Amino acid sequence: MSMEMLRIGSGHDRHRLGAERPLLIGGVTIPHSTGLIGHSDADVLLHALTDAILGALAEGDIGEWFPDTDAENKDRDSAEMLRTVLTKARRGKFRIVNIDCTIFAQRPKLSPYKTAIRESVAALVGLPVDRVGVKAKTGEHVGPIGREEAIDAEVAVLLEVTE
Ligand SMILES: [Zn+2]
Repeated sequence: MSMEMLRIGSGHDRHRLGAERPLLIGGVTIPHSTGLIGHSDADVLLHALTDAILGALAEGDIGEWFPDTDAENKDRDSAEMLRTVLTKARRGKFRIVNIDCTIFAQRPKLSPYKTAIRESVAALVGLPVDRVGVKAKTGEHVGPIGREEAIDAEVAVLLEVTE
């Protein structure tokens, strides 16, 4: 395969913990005493993934596509934002090769949910589960992650040209 047929993208996102709302990570609702604060549904992993795809396409960032000043984006379903960007990728004749996700959370412990998150992300983007990696790390009890003030997500994505 020619290198000109490949595009790499990376995405990073952070949301503050604290709201009494569902904790959504990768489309999976995780039982916890607090959720993530944000204008949309605050799914930190889907936002990082959406940004990674936009990065691979060199099409700006999620804030440009879905401004948080826009009332339409309030409590917006992050899966729907992801679908919009996937449609853009498909129209540009790109498809996803694989996705590598890392989630940073001190609490809740995410290891019991990694499989569910993998399956959810794979289903959302239409990939087999073996093309989606999900890793979970803590904040080692230091910094905003370690103090349970925030959850971060990082995503790398590889796209290839379909024709
Ligand atoms: Zn976000």
